[in-house]
Parts: sequence; structure tokens; C-alpha cells
Amino acid sequence: MARTALVTGGSRGIGAAISKALKAEGYNVAATYAGNDEAATAFTAETGIATYKWNVADYDESAAGIAKVEAEVGPIDIVVANAGITRDAPFHKMTPEQWHQVIDTNLTGVFNTVHPVWPGMRERKFGRVIVISSINGQKGQFAQVNYAATKAGDLGIVKSLAQEGARAGITANAICPGYIATEMVMAIPEKVRDSIVAGIPAGRLGEPEEIARCVTFLASEDSGFINGSTISANGAQFFV
Ligand code: NDP
Repeated sequence: MARTALVTGGSRGIGAAISKALKAEGYNVAATYAGNDEAATAFTAETGIATYKWNVADYDESAAGIAKVEAEVGPIDIVVANAGITRDAPFHKMTPEQWHQVIDTNLTGVFNTVHPVWPGMRERKFGRVIVISSINGQKGQFAQVNYAATKAGDLGIVKSLAQEGARAGITANAICPGYIATEMVMAIPEKVRDSIVAGIPAGRLGEPEEIARCVTFLASEDSGFINGSTISANGAQFFV
């Protein structure tokens, strides 16, 4: 029987490419989103992938949503914690609200997404936890103290989960994309974006499908010994 994969933020951007790639590999896929009903409806019409709306920052909503997905689609064996936001500001201007919004969504959201599926993975002795971190969690970024903290935190989460899940057949890994051509990046002013591209040895932004490829690799049955790792997919944009 096909395994079931849950992709948070799976109706747009990188998440949409991940949902589609997992479906193409034969998984049953459920994609979540926060509030953009129009994009989610269009995504389901295009792909046939079921979408579910809940806020990953809310534990009870996440647990209830996950229970619904498991009842309607199947027990979740692969969870991709992809939903994320930015609220950029230089540190001296960053408000506590901007800090908490990003922490609640990008970091607590990973806990809220993985914690409800973890007992089932342990019982079934199989699981794949894949967290979408960021190059900016590895190197830090001007005006992203909040975002970089969450993305660095993701790496701590997967390294710890990897140790806890290894004997139960569960792996936990992170992917650190560089700059990928999604709405999040296209919203950056063009002049700033041009200077970002100039700093990427590949000379271009990445494509969402290139991140999706990393996910299908980590999700596969054959990837069971890859555990606690970070895949950097950034066009050779190295950092110290
Ligand atoms: P997008 O803004 O294109 O899409 C974000 C998705 O997450 C949407 O589906 C959105 O739902 C959902 N989402 C946002 N907040 C919540 C929430 N509170 N609860 C549930 N769902 C939520 O983002 P990207 O595709 O660009 O980014 C995806 C991930 O990749 C993020 O974690 C990001 O940090 C990371 N990343 C992106 C990079 C890039 O260059 N784009 C680079 C490195 C990492 P809705 O459609 O309803 O708004």
C-alpha cells in the first residue's frame, strides 16, 4: 500500500513542488496551507492533491488537522515541515511581534507538525521527518535575526530527533535551500535580488523542483541510513 506524506505549506512555492514530486513517486499526499484558499483550490484542481487548512503555529489545530488527514488519507509516514514565513527587519527595529510570529510559525510550527505524527511512526517502525530549513540558518542574514534563529533551530531539531528515532526506523533530516524562485524571494526588491544572484556562483536562483528532488531522495525506503543530515542546495553559495 502506498505510504502517506503530509506537506505543510504544500499548496504554494517550494511546498507545492514537493507535494507534486511526492505524488509523482506514488505517495498519497496531503498538503496544508494557512489561509490562501484561492491558491489551495487552484492547486487541488490542477493536481488532485487534497488540501487542508490550519495554522501550524497552533498545536491543537495541528493535532486536529493531522488526525483528520490520517482518517481521510492514511497514517502519515512522511512528514515535510515546510511552512514558513519571514518578517524581516534590522535588529534595532525588529518588534517583539515580528520575533514571535516567525518563532511561532517556523520553529514551534515544526514541533506542532512532527509531535502528533511521531507516536504513529514509532509504532509502525517507519518514519521520514524532513524539515525545510534555509541557508540563512547556516550563515545568518542581515535583518533576519528571527528567521535565522528558527532555521538554525531546525537543524538542532532534526539532529535530536534523528537520535531518538533511529532505532524505531525513523529518520529526520533537514534541507537548506539557497535562494529559490518563489513568491517569497520574488517579493524581495529587484535591485536586492540582483545583488543576491550576483553572489550565487551558479549565477541563478534555484527552482522549487530542485528542492523537491532532495525531499523525494530523503523520503525513500533506501535512505534509511541518512539520519540527522543537512542537505545544502544553494548553487555553491558557500559560507563560513
Ligand atoms: P511561500 O511563501 O511561497 O509559501 C509558504 C507556504 O507556507 C504557503 O503554502 C503558506 O500558506 C504556508 N504557511 C505560511 N504560514 C503558515 C502557517 N502559519 N500555517 C500553515 N501554513 C503556513 O514560501 P516558500 O515556498 O518560498 O518557502 C517554503 C519554505 O522554504 C519556508 O520554510 C522557507 O523558509 C523555506 N525557504 C525558502 C527559500 C526561498 O528562497 N524561497 C530559501 C530557503 C528556505 P498560504 O498559501 O495559505 O499562505
